[in-house]
Parts: sequence; structure tokens; C-alpha cells
Amino acid sequence: MMKIETLTIDAAREAIATGTTTATALAEAHYERIAAEDPKINSYLALSKDRALAQAAKVDALAARGEPLPPLAGVPLGIKDVLSMQGAPATAGSKILEGYRPPYDGTAVARLEAAGAVMLGKINCDEFAMGSSNENSAYGPVHNPRDLERVPGGSSGGSAAAVAAGLAVATLGTDTGGSIRQPAAFCGVTGVLPTYSRVSRFGLIAFASSLDRIGPVTRTVRDSATLLKIMAGHDPMDATSSRVPVPDYVAGLEKPVAGLRVGVPAEYFGEGLDPEIRASIEKTIDQLQQAGCSVKPVSLPHSKYAIPTYYVIATAEASSNLARFDGVRYGLRAKDANTLSAMYRKTRDAGFGAEVKRRILLGTYALSAGYYDAYYRKAQQVRTLLTRDFLAAFNEVDVLVTPTTPTPPFKLGEKTDDPVSMYLADIYTVTASLAGICGVTTPCGNTASGLPIGVQILAKHFDEATALRVAQAVEGFQQGHSGFPVGVEGT
Ligand code: GLN
Repeated sequence: MMKIETLTIDAAREAIATGTTTATALAEAHYERIAAEDPKINSYLALSKDRALAQAAKVDALAARGEPLPPLAGVPLGIKDVLSMQGAPATAGSKILEGYRPPYDGTAVARLEAAGAVMLGKINCDEFAMGSSNENSAYGPVHNPRDLERVPGGSSGGSAAAVAAGLAVATLGTDTGGSIRQPAAFCGVTGVLPTYSRVSRFGLIAFASSLDRIGPVTRTVRDSATLLKIMAGHDPMDATSSRVPVPDYVAGLEKPVAGLRVGVPAEYFGEGLDPEIRASIEKTIDQLQQAGCSVKPVSLPHSKYAIPTYYVIATAEASSNLARFDGVRYGLRAKDANTLSAMYRKTRDAGFGAEVKRRILLGTYALSAGYYDAYYRKAQQVRTLLTRDFLAAFNEVDVLVTPTTPTPPFKLGEKTDDPVSMYLADIYTVTASLAGICGVTTPCGNTASGLPIGVQILAKHFDEATALRVAQAVEGFQQGHSGFPVGVEGT
């Protein structure tokens, strides 16, 4: 069997098309590697072997007949557990959804599968996507493949770890305040925050509906462009999905970056930024300049309000979205309750973890009579100011280049007792979430101790093509880049 842990989408498809391997062999090789490596990582919550092997057999039949293969023919993917796959468990990392199996496929999953992808299984994440370290999963933390004592980031920690550890060619994650970008940076892989409304959310278990997005986590920028192109676009099943036409993100990668205007926001380089990360981002900016970009300092003056604004809006929306988990319709139901309200109370008490409860309390408070104006409405007003900051900057530049995270991946357990310090892990990601703009994170170097560093490239609404193009240039700057850095012990 070929080396699967560095495989890209195009290489996988090509190997199947030329008969070097089969989709079935590729899926089986992934399951073998998952059995061997995932006990250390804990990225998969459930495997969907029957479905994967049935799809692989279909692809192999096409290939055997010499028919043209669809763009993701036989490509093994992992799906974050907040996304619905018909008949497969969808726990969202929560005990409250134990036993729940959605009766339908989410649109993003369905579109990728229609393009030939093989769904390996469901992937671990922070409970209801709330967290920055994957330590809030009811099914145990995920370990960072680059250093097993460190967190992979969150909430799509399993999605990033699986790609870095060679346990799927690519995965889907979701990003509400940084949950694709921060774990991708922590695990040394690429992730995309698509523009709000770009990818249908039909079949996504909602966290904060004005912020939630689905996006790819991959080994290369090109793989992200390929997946995004297939997933993006209007869906009649999601009224919030946009009708803006979807450009060919893959073809867009061929254009040079020379002439692009790069903005460097001062607010993203202040106190609290790790010096090695700062140096790595500055070096990346120099390299972009050498590649023909112009570089200009810009200001996003309201950035300092982003964390409190996000944690009011996201928790308020979460408190409303999570009201549906009451023991009646989905998953867990407390047994020893003799009235309806006792059943609600006991189910929610037993089913939700501490962070989710904290957020329901915070969000309910922010929405309650008398506090709504002081907190929720005020946060929405600040959100407008944050969005205007970006719109003003994008009048002058094409992309913004910033660190993705203030620090390298931290140790498991390091921040679990201090929610505010955990929230600060999102300091560079939540602002773009609030503004609805798009972005990409891609590896731009390593710390002296070998931990990955990610650079965030932000672009205006619906300009994923430009962010991806700049990310691809950054990928090209990495010496000896062979698709992705291997880090799992024993490989
Ligand atoms: N870490 C952030 C939070 O805990 C973002 C989560 C996300 O993007 N889903 O809310």
C-alpha cells in the first residue's frame, strides 16, 4: 500500500484512476491506520465502515469500467460529529445526544459524497463545538499528533488531528469563533473559514446561528480549494445559504500573488503574542513582499472588544439553540423522573457538561429582560463597529495577514480551570467570525521546539479565492513542503 499519511486529494484520485490502488484498499488502509494510531489521538468517535466500503466499491466499479471519475473519487474523509450523516451517531461531543442517529445527510456531506468521497466516520470535538482545546468533549480529549501531551485546539480538534496524523485525507470542521482555524494552526494543517452563508448548514447541529460555518481541514491549500468548491453554493434546504455564484477556487490558485495588497493590522501584534509566532508571521509577510505583494500597516481599532462581544452573542444564541435538547426528541432521557419538568431538569443536568452549562447560563442572562439592552443589544452594536473596521481596511488592501493563534499549542489540562484564559485563545479568530468575512490558516513555520505555527489570511466577504491564493503562496515558501508535516510518533 502507498504511504497514506501524506496523501492529497488529487494524488488519491489519480492513484485510483490509474489502478495503482483501489478505493476499497485505500479505505481499508485508513481503517488499519486508525486502529493502530487513533488510540493515542482519540480523533474518531464512530466509524462508518459499511457506508465507506459501499461507496468505495461504487468508485472501484466505475474505475474498472474505465469511466470518468468524479473529483473526489475514493477520497477518504472524516466528518466532525456536529454534522449529520444518515444513520450514523451524531453526538456533537455531548452525552445528551447519546444514541441519537440523524435520519438524513447534511448538505455538505451529501455534496462531497456525491462527488465520490468515502466517509470514514465521525470525528471528536468539543461539546456542541464550545471550546478551544477539545478538552470539553464528553468522549475524552483529543491529543495533538505533533506532541501527544498538548491539545490539538478546538473545537474541531479531532478534525485537525486526524488530518495531521494521517487518519483521513481531509476532514470537515466547523468554525463559530475560530474552531477550524485555531486547531488547524495547532496541528500544522490548513483550514478554511468560508464567508458566512457560503456553505449550506443543513444538517449541522447549531451552536450560534449567526456565526456558525462549515469548512474544510486539509494537508494542502489546493485540497481546501477543491473541497470548498464542491460544498459551496445555495441550498434550498438552508434559507441562510447565499446565491452568490461560486468561483472555481482551484483554477484561481494558478494566478500569481504579485500585485496583491497585504494589510498588517497592528492590533494583532500586541501584548500576549508569542515572540516565535511574531517572528514567523513577520517573516511570512517579508516573503509575500518579495513575491511582489505590497505591504501596508492597517488598523482595526475595535478589535479589543471582540472577545467580550463574541462571548455575549455566541452564548446568547447557544442558550436558545440548546433549548431543544430536553430529553423528549433526541438522545438521552433521564429515567428516574416522574414529572415532565423533572425529566427536563434531570436530562439537562446529566447530559450537558460544565462548559455548556456555563454558556447556557451566561447566554440566558444576557438575553433576559432588563439585561438584553445592556448586553445583547450592545454586543450587536459593537459587532457592527467590528465589521466596519474590516470593510474600511478592505478598501485599502486585498488581504490581512495575522497570526492565527497567540501561542503555540498548550499542554492538556493547562487552561481547563481558567475559562477566560481559554477564551483568549481565540483572540485573533473571533473578529472575522463576528464580521462574517472569510479566511484561511496555513502552516508558516515551527517553533524551536518543533510545534507548528499558523498564519491567518483574511479576505472580504466572498473573496475566498484571494485568501486561498495567498495561502498557497505561503505554502510554497515552506522548505521541503511535501504535502504536510508528519508528526505522529512511530511514523
Ligand atoms: N473556541 C471558541 C468557543 O469556544 C470558538 C468555538 C467555535 O468556533 N466553535 O466558542
